[in-house]
Parts: sequence; structure tokens; C-alpha cells
Amino acid sequence: MTSIRRFLLAGVLAALTLFSFIAPLRGYRSSMAEVETLFDAHLLDASKLVANLDMARITRQSQLGDNLAFQVWEDGKLLAASSQAPSDHMAPLQQGFDFANFDGYRWRTYSWFDESTQRWIMAAERTDQRFALAENVVLETVLPILLGIPVTGLLIWLIVSQGLKPLTQLSSDLQKKPAHDLSELPLRATPKELVPVVNAVNGLIHRLGAALEREKRLSADAAHELRTPITALKIQLHNLAQEVDAGSESFRQLEQGVERMGHLVEQLMSLYRTSPEQFTADCTDIDLHALAQELVARMYPLFEARQQTLELLGKRCMMRGEPFALETLLANLLTNASKYTPLGGRVQVNVEAGDAVVVLKVQDNGAGISAEDKARIFERFYRVDRSSNAGPGCGLGLTIVQHVAALHQATVSVHASEFGSGAAFTVIFPALMET
Ligand code: ADP
Repeated sequence: MTSIRRFLLAGVLAALTLFSFIAPLRGYRSSMAEVETLFDAHLLDASKLVANLDMARITRQSQLGDNLAFQVWEDGKLLAASSQAPSDHMAPLQQGFDFANFDGYRWRTYSWFDESTQRWIMAAERTDQRFALAENVVLETVLPILLGIPVTGLLIWLIVSQGLKPLTQLSSDLQKKPAHDLSELPLRATPKELVPVVNAVNGLIHRLGAALEREKRLSADAAHELRTPITALKIQLHNLAQEVDAGSESFRQLEQGVERMGHLVEQLMSLYRTSPEQFTADCTDIDLHALAQELVARMYPLFEARQQTLELLGKRCMMRGEPFALETLLANLLTNASKYTPLGGRVQVNVEAGDAVVVLKVQDNGAGISAEDKARIFERFYRVDRSSNAGPGCGLGLTIVQHVAALHQATVSVHASEFGSGAAFTVIFPALMET
């Protein structure tokens, strides 16, 4: 994966290093030229000095320092020389500077003809000294830069990291955003360069929210529109029952089909009936135990018909909620408990106060739910058994339960019941702090 931070670090460091080397390189050239002039002047002086030496006292071993060689020629004969000098001419018999190789080194030479003594004076100096000096100058400039590269790198890294912080912040903000949170990203403290990105993301969130809302409205509106024809259908079916054999298999299936359709429409409507804004407006203080008591009484005939026992445990628990939505939640859990528990089974509702929470638990001793289905049962239209003998249902009941729970900032979980077999649904609501 490409990294802006690494790219900036490498780029800036490379540019800086390149620049740091070009500058001393230019310096090297000019220092080389200066050193050359300086050394040439020195060599010229030295050659004058040689001319003034007392030739009688000079031996072949004479030295004027390690780096200075000389020869004095008179009438084509070597009159005097330093120890490093070769036996023949070390420089051409021509006044001026030149280069020569002897004694294992390269030398800068200077020759001149001394008119007063009629002698050729030649002096030579090793060139490696000159380079060493110029190199020293460059090294002294480059070395601090070389040593400074890691420190500069670290500094650039810190600066780049600081500069990229708003980007990191933006990506973490986006990552932390829950899937259902379609609120816009705040623009405060956003650097100028990121404003178009934040605006674009906000635009996208806005469009997404509008599209989702349209989708919700569409199903709610469609369900609403279907309500009237289904009611009409039910009346027609009732009338038809007087005219035809109401006990026949075809009639029973027709009746079941209409029933199923009516159920689906009701479920679809209750799924999107409550919008967050409407919900907040309709919220009141509720005793969940009392609400459960009322609903259990109302639904008792359903359980009786299946010879199932239905019990309610717990005590008064106050919470903030929307009564109609909470009734729908509980009714769906109870309907499921009855539906997926065989005849003569047992269903228990428990409303208890916990640590700043109200816990609603609905459990049965039916077949229960497999681990892999547990992960999917809250999905829209998901049913474990899709065959017609699974009983009436459309796979929306638990989606509604979850929707209502989310509106109440509650969590829903499913696990094994305490009755040996069967499922237990637990909804944990925030409790109302009674003063
Ligand atoms: P529906 O009941 O209409 O099929 P739900 O969304 O209410 O849709 O439930 C989804 C699925 O979860 C059901 O089809 C059923 O298989 C499973 N389920 C729900 N409640 C229970 C329960 N108490 N015991 C066993 N299975 C259940």
C-alpha cells in the first residue's frame, strides 16, 4: 500500500540530501582553484629559494621538506638536487608550471632560468597534498550534513505526521461512525485542503440518508396502500364462506394466504412506523412490568389455544420508552415463543431491574436456535424454516424487535433458555433513574 507519509519523507529527504551535496561539490571546485593558486605561489617562492641556496653545500640527499623536490641544472649538468628528484630533467626546460611523475607520485613543477647564474632552477611539489586540503574543506562541510540526515529525517517524519494528523483524524472519525449514524461530519478545525473531502463525504451521507428514507417510506407507503384491499379481501372471504364449502382444503389455503398477507403488511407498517424524531416526541415514563402484564393478559388466548403455559415474573421497572413500540416488541417476542414452541410448551416473561438497566427476558422450551442461525435471525425476511409448515410469518418480527430496541438505546441478544431446550431473548434497556 502506498503511504503519503513515507513518500513525503523520502522525497523531502532525497531533495535535501541532493542539494546538500551539490552545494559542497561546487565549493570543492572553487576551493580546488583557490588551493591551486595558493600552492603555485608557494612553489614559485620555493623555486626562488632554491636559486639562493649555496650549491656547494647541497648533496644528493638534501631535502627541503618531504613534499618539495628541486633540481638545479647548469650547462645541461645536474648541479644540485633533492633526494626525491629524478636523475634527468624533472620538468621541461621552459619557464612555467607543469606536471610530472616521479618517485611514485604526481608532482606540480615550476622551471625558470636564472639569468644571473645561467642556471635552470626546477622546483616540484606533490599534488596529493593539494587534493587533501580541498577534500578536507569539502569533508568539513559535508560531514555535519551526513551526520544530520537521521536527525533531519526524524524531524521531517514528525512534521509530516503532524501535517497528516487531520487526515488520520478524519479516517478514524469515519471508521468509528456506526453504520446507522448518518449525521454529517463536523467541519470545525478542518484544514482548508480537507474541506472539499469532508463536504463530499457529507454530501454522500446526505444522499444515502435520503435514499434510505425513501426506501423506508416506500415500503411503509406500499404497506399502507395494501391495507385497504386486504381488508376488502377478508370481507369477501367471509362472505364467500357462506356460499361455498368453507372447510375445503382450497378454501383453508386461501384463508391462510390472506392471513399471511395481512400479517406481512402489519409487520411492514410497524417496522417503519416510528421514526427517531416521532419516537422522541412520543416517549414517556413507563413501567415495563405493567406493560408486559397487560400484554400477557391480552395474548393469553393464543397460548391457551396451544395449551402452553405463560408466566410473568419480576416487579415494577421504570424506563423511558414509547408504549406502542414496546408493545410491538414484546408481542413479536411472545408470538415467536408460542409459534416455535410445541403444543403444551412453556413460555416465561421476566422483567427485572439491573444496574441502571431494565432487563426483559422472554424464554421458551421449544427447539431453540442453532448457533449459525443466531447470527442471521435479525436480518430482514430471514426465516430458519422457509417451508409452509413453519407456520405463519414473514421474517420481519425480529427485525422489528431490533429496530424498536435501537430506538430505545437497548441491546437484544439471543441465547439458550434455562429450560433445557428452547431460546431466550434478552433486551437490556437503560433504566429511568427514580429520584
Ligand atoms: P418470523 O417469525 O416471521 O419467521 P422473525 O424475524 O420473528 O420472523 O424470526 C426469524 C426466525 O427466527 C424465525 O423464522 C425462527 O426460525 C427464528 N425464531 C424466532 N424466535 C424463535 C424462538 N423463540 N424459538 C426458535 N426460533 C425462533
